[in-house]
Amino acid sequence: MILKVNFKQFLDEKGDVLALTEQAKRVFDFLTTIILSASENIERPLINVDLNCNTRGTDLSCEGNIEASCNTLKVIEWQCDTCEASGTISHWQGSLWDMQKRTIH
Ligand SMILES: [Zn+2]
Repeated sequence: MILKVNFKQFLDEKGDVLALTEQAKRVFDFLTTIILSASENIERPLINVDLNCNTRGTDLSCEGNIEASCNTLKVIEWQCDTCEASGTISHWQGSLWDMQKRTIH
């Protein structure tokens, strides 16, 4: 199953997080951990995120680790190293979780 996420869906127009259900909050925390790690290591081809697959949901038992990469379109692609779980995250840039060093002009 591929989980495609437009990160903006979680935020209001000011960039604050919308009220989330418990399940959505789990997924949100999962995604922000990936964004933090990926944006901090954006120059690396493959990033090992300090995150277990099963943190996405209470009904999951996979203890695989999540790996992520950022493609040329600045879409983060993540996958579990153990099971079939994978996904993409778009529109994360400029959010509170974007750790890329900003260039000051
Ligand atoms: Zn997994």
